[in-house]
Amino acid sequence: MALPRKMLNDGELSKPGEDETYYDFDLFVIGAGSGGVRASRFSANFGAKVGICELPFHPISSEVIGGVGGTCVIRGCVPKKILVYGASFGGELEDARNYGWELSEKVDFNWKKLLEKKTDEINRLNGIYKRLLSNAGVKLFEGEGKIVGPNEVEVTQLDGTKLSYSAKHILIATGGRAQRPNIPGQELAITSDEALSLEDLPKRAVVLGGGYIAVEFASIWRGMGATVDLIFRKELPLRGFDDEMRAVVARNLEGRGVNLHPRTHLTDLIKTEDGIKAVTDHGEELMADVVLFATGRTPNTKRLNLEAVGVELDEIGAVKVDENSRTNIPSIWAVGDVTNRLNLTPVALMEGTCFAKSVFGGENSKPDYNHIPCAVFSIPPLSVVGLSEEQAIEQAQGDILVFTSTFNPLKNTISGRQEKSVMKLIVDAETDKVLGASMCGPDAPEIMQGIAVALKCGATKAQFDSTVGIHPSAAEEFVTMRSVSRRIAADAKPRTNL
Ligand code: NDP
Repeated sequence: MALPRKMLNDGELSKPGEDETYYDFDLFVIGAGSGGVRASRFSANFGAKVGICELPFHPISSEVIGGVGGTCVIRGCVPKKILVYGASFGGELEDARNYGWELSEKVDFNWKKLLEKKTDEINRLNGIYKRLLSNAGVKLFEGEGKIVGPNEVEVTQLDGTKLSYSAKHILIATGGRAQRPNIPGQELAITSDEALSLEDLPKRAVVLGGGYIAVEFASIWRGMGATVDLIFRKELPLRGFDDEMRAVVARNLEGRGVNLHPRTHLTDLIKTEDGIKAVTDHGEELMADVVLFATGRTPNTKRLNLEAVGVELDEIGAVKVDENSRTNIPSIWAVGDVTNRLNLTPVALMEGTCFAKSVFGGENSKPDYNHIPCAVFSIPPLSVVGLSEEQAIEQAQGDILVFTSTFNPLKNTISGRQEKSVMKLIVDAETDKVLGASMCGPDAPEIMQGIAVALKCGATKAQFDSTVGIHPSAAEEFVTMRSVSRRIAADAKPRTNL
């Protein structure tokens, strides 16, 4: 087949017809999650002959189970967001009373029904992803992929038969899996995979960790009426986010009834007649129906046979790549969580797109990690883009201006909910450029996506101020923050991380 100009192994662009070696595929992708599907579809659209392999589908992953769509679609972002929607109705129903809704009869929540609907949707999406691949002309193999040479892959199918193919380029897009801390009784705990598919809604949940998943599941289960204890090692959850916003999230979690255990370690899990006893280093004994470990994820590289071909890994087992997503073996590339760069679905999509453009589209395209917005889907959510106050203090050359707005959302004035929304802008005092924005409150991710465009365009505070607001909305606060909350001088010391 004739391919457009593409990058050769040494990084030079080839001339059409220059490369005479025959391969079964121009590209073979291992892993059909967000990054792998994007890279294979776009490469095929550029004219490449593409094969992709993925493990059989199941909501709970293992070394030998996965599914087309990957973590985000099957056991991550999508089912999580469905559960967040489900949990949010609890608060909405409470808020509805002061708006005149007479909810005199007992309101029941049917977990099994929601779970069934969620599973239907995941199955539907799995089918859509398969169709996306076949419509693009990508050949899908169900089975476990291994790399057996710089240009050779082997797929072990469900019945044990092995298929071998040669490929000019191999892309590793196998994502990551939840990791479990080594605590006595750790086998009694579940990870987010199982948490998204529990048969029964727990009445009492203990969540270990202070990251995205921990905070999101604490919100989900609490919103559905469970007693939730959230155990984390730092003073505040969500290390790495703006400290002030972390405190807001902690306050909101507590306000909604989550029991926070900061500066706490889980030391033991013990099975009892009454459930699981979770023991902490403060001597607390918390009884739970479910204990969730939300303590980070590790890259899926163990069974890829990478040592045989000499692909370099970092200390946690992530595939090391250059800014074009290429490994130390010129024909082997990697995108998404398996590279542990910024583990977010839209980032894997960006990396997959850049890979396809560079290798098959004749354009040297590199992922741009600046101004990537993200959201923690706690209830209410936190969303940020750009620098936190702490990062700005560390990185900025000159003074920093911090603008904050804490307000009672209009809806709460009637509902009576005691929960403030908080917004924040970090501005470079000299250039007036907005360096970072954060919001914790209803609709924060929906609002932040637009703010991210502004920051990507290099918007100044003056431009924010000259933008007319949408009234009445929470979003308009971002263009009406007139007074500086504080100015941080260039020589101010970085604050310690809480
Ligand atoms: P995170 O990296 O966000 O957080 C891990 C948490 O686990 C931290 O609070 C960390 O504590 C704690 N931890 C780690 N090891 C231990 C241990 N041995 N004992 C106790 N606590 C421990 O991981 P998650 O699992 O929450 O999420 C994984 C990734 O998935 C995230 O990095 C994110 O990229 C992605 N994700 C994104 C979402 C989104 O975009 N909304 C939603 C869910 C996941 P400490 O801070 O003290 O180190």
